[in-house]
Amino acid sequence: MTPNPISLNHPAKTSPIIGIVSLGCPKALVDSERILTRLRAEGYTLSGTYANADVVLVNTCGFLDSARDESLAAIGEALAENGRVIVTGCLGAEKELITSKFPKVLAVTGPHQYESVVAAVHEAAPPPANPFIDLLPPQGIKLTPRHYAYLKIAEGCNNRCSFCIIPSLRGDLVSRPIGEVLREAEKLAQAGVKELLIISQDTSAYGVDVKYEESVWRGQSWRTQFLDLARALGELGIWVRLHYVYPYPHVDAVIPLMAEGKVLPYLDMPLQHASMPILKAMRRPASQEKTLERIRRWREICPDLVLRSTFIVGFPGETEADFELLLEWLHQAQLDRVGCFKYEAVQGAAANQLENPVPEAVKEARWHRFMQTQQAISATRLQRFVGRTLPVLVDRVETKKTGLKITARSFADAPEIDGHVMIRNASETIKPGDMLNATITKAGAYDLHANTNGPHF
Ligand code: SF4
Repeated sequence: MTPNPISLNHPAKTSPIIGIVSLGCPKALVDSERILTRLRAEGYTLSGTYANADVVLVNTCGFLDSARDESLAAIGEALAENGRVIVTGCLGAEKELITSKFPKVLAVTGPHQYESVVAAVHEAAPPPANPFIDLLPPQGIKLTPRHYAYLKIAEGCNNRCSFCIIPSLRGDLVSRPIGEVLREAEKLAQAGVKELLIISQDTSAYGVDVKYEESVWRGQSWRTQFLDLARALGELGIWVRLHYVYPYPHVDAVIPLMAEGKVLPYLDMPLQHASMPILKAMRRPASQEKTLERIRRWREICPDLVLRSTFIVGFPGETEADFELLLEWLHQAQLDRVGCFKYEAVQGAAANQLENPVPEAVKEARWHRFMQTQQAISATRLQRFVGRTLPVLVDRVETKKTGLKITARSFADAPEIDGHVMIRNASETIKPGDMLNATITKAGAYDLHANTNGPHF
């Protein structure tokens, strides 16, 4: 593992150098961006290698046992390669575990403790006397490609799903004021970002904790609330993609905005299961019959709507009947993009106390059956794009032995987790961040193939 590559003009050779290893989900990535933005504002230099760093920050993930292991391995590697290490992020909540395993780490801070982690950096490598504030890009430091960015609107979660320890790591929901979020979004758009990915633990709950308080943006008052956020972001004229949205009734109001093209007709809606006894044991609020009805109505309003979801198979107590009900539900829902996890007993999760754990071999078999079922559904769903011309955003341009390879995405594909649109008639002038018109010629199980007939304006 190497620290994330960071392409920045270094402000001065004499300023202290900070290396970073950022692990975990997009929310952790945004935490890293915020910390780096602050450090760069103070005149630190950011480095993509261990070798020259005065101190290395490791932003950890503690969601699954496999993620904890990866975080511990990253701390060990940073210590071996550099020796001066500060640990932050979700696993930082378990300070004793880290300090007992790695007594030489300089400091351990928990999730979203920005002040503490910056203070620890100051302690380990004092900031230069004259901060180079004028060299800080207005949009902050981003670890994503220039043309898309994650926008985090809240921390924590008010739900208490029995398989999840995020609320105990990150606390209850704390929403950022809408004015602050919109100003950040505007700066990103002005800096050339063409796609904003809206994230939090429960985006549909945005603003509940602050009673939807109002703030002003562009001379108009907006409520800190899901619908106002979508409306306001829709004014920026760039792609806006909504992640981690639960199918609550108030989400219905955002679908017409999708039909009008204000925000992308795409919803990432983690559902986890379809059988009521399992949803109850998971402490999920949803009723999947109502969700089916809701999806049907959404598609009437916005036929292009693409739905993504994630599910867990092999949750304690899941019977063959529960699992078959889930497969039947998938057939009825016809979701476009689906991820599936085998249940993992996360240390500290309430679900670990549940009876009737599912044997590993059964979990494995169910996971394969689930993926086969969904793969066929996804492949059929993708066929509807063949023959259509869609705007696509270019992610990568690579030179291969066989010629140029251009990888793009349409409104139906979120970066990293969904499929791609592969452009066949590539031209040397195309570069990452370009928006093209692409006529879809072929659909596979996950990706589309297309020819472009020029830029999309
Ligand atoms: S909604 Fe459930 S799974 Fe998601 S962060 Fe909150 S408690 Fe965890």
